[in-house]
Amino acid sequence: MSLPEPLADNYGRTHGDLRVSVTDRCNLRCYYCMPVEGVEFRPHAAILSFEEIERLVRAAARLGIRKLRLTGGEPLVRKGVCRLVEMLAVVPGIEEIAMTTNGALLAEYAPRLAAAGVGRLNISLDTLDRRRFIEISRCDDLPRVLEGIAAACRAGFRQLKLNTVAIRGRTEEDAVPLALFARELGVELRFIEFMPADGGDRWTSHRVLHGEEILNILGKAIGPLEPVPEPDSRAPAVRYRFADGRGIIGLIRTVSAPFCDRCGRLRLTAEGELRNCIFSSERWDVRGLVRGGGSDDALAELIRQAVRGKKKRHGCDNGVLAPTDRGMHRIGG
Ligand code: SAM
Repeated sequence: MSLPEPLADNYGRTHGDLRVSVTDRCNLRCYYCMPVEGVEFRPHAAILSFEEIERLVRAAARLGIRKLRLTGGEPLVRKGVCRLVEMLAVVPGIEEIAMTTNGALLAEYAPRLAAAGVGRLNISLDTLDRRRFIEISRCDDLPRVLEGIAAACRAGFRQLKLNTVAIRGRTEEDAVPLALFARELGVELRFIEFMPADGGDRWTSHRVLHGEEILNILGKAIGPLEPVPEPDSRAPAVRYRFADGRGIIGLIRTVSAPFCDRCGRLRLTAEGELRNCIFSSERWDVRGLVRGGGSDDALAELIRQAVRGKKKRHGCDNGVLAPTDRGMHRIGG
C-alpha cells in the first residue's frame, strides 16, 4: 500500500495542525479581538454542526492532520462542546486535542474537558488587576477566570499555559505580576505580540510590545532569563526560563520575528471556511461543499487546495503584514 502524500504546501511546509473554531461568539469583548461597537455574530444555522466538523476532521486526519486545537470565539460557550471533544478524540489519526479558552467558564468545565480528551489547555489572561481586566474585556469576570485557572490546575491536563497579548502602553504594567503568578502556579506564560486582527482599526505597529522588550522588563524586575532549547522545530513560541529554575516565558513574535517559514497550521472557521493563515483573505468553502452533498474525495481535494494556496509569508504575495479582514473572534485564535 502506498503512503499518502504529505499535506505540504509549495514551500515544503508540512501541515499537521488544524485549529477549529467552534463558535464566533464570546462571553468577553476584548478590544484587541473584536470591534468595540456593533459586533455581529453568525446565526446558528450558519455555524458548522458537530457532525460537519467531525467530517472535515476525519478527512483532514486521513491527509496527515494530527493535532487539533479548539478555539473560537469562546469554545466553552458552544453548547455541548465536551461531546464534540469526545467525537474528535476517537477520529483515527488524531493524536492530540488542545483548547484555547478565556477561562471564565472553566471552573465548571475543566474536569469534564480533561475527561473528554483535552490534553493541553491555553488560558488567556492579560492582567491580574480587576479594573484593568474590565477595561480590556469590557466584562467584570477576573474572579471567575481565576477560579477557572485554579480548577484547570486541579483537573490534570497534560499541559497548561497562560496567554497574554502584548500591547504597548498596557502590558508593561501587567507583565511582572503575570510572570510572578505563572511562576507560583508552575505554568508557562506566553506573550503574543498584538496582531492586526482586532476587527477594527485600533492596531498600529507602534502598539505592538515586542518580545525582547518584555524579556527586558522581566529580567530587570524578577531575574535573568536564559533560552530554552526547543525540541519541536514547528513551535511558534521561543522560550526562556528564569535562571533560578522557576518559570518559563514563551514569546510569540508574530510581528517582530514572524515564524511563517515553520508554520504548519490550517484553520477552520466556525462558519466552515478553511483558511491557511490568519492574515490571508482567501477561504475555501467547507460548509458549501458538505451541505451541497460533496464527496469525501472532494473534501480532501479542498483541504489540499487550501494548503497548496498558502503564501510564503503573512498570507500575502508581498509578505507585508496587513490587517485582517476580520477580527480574531471570527477567524479563530
Ligand atoms: N476565547 C478564547 C480565548 O480568549 O483564549 C479563544 C479565542 S481567542 C481569539 C484566542 C487567542 O487569541 C487568545 O489568547 C487571545 O488573547 C488572542 N488574540 C485575540 N486577538 C488578538 C490580537 N489582535 N493579537 C494577538 N492575539 C490576539
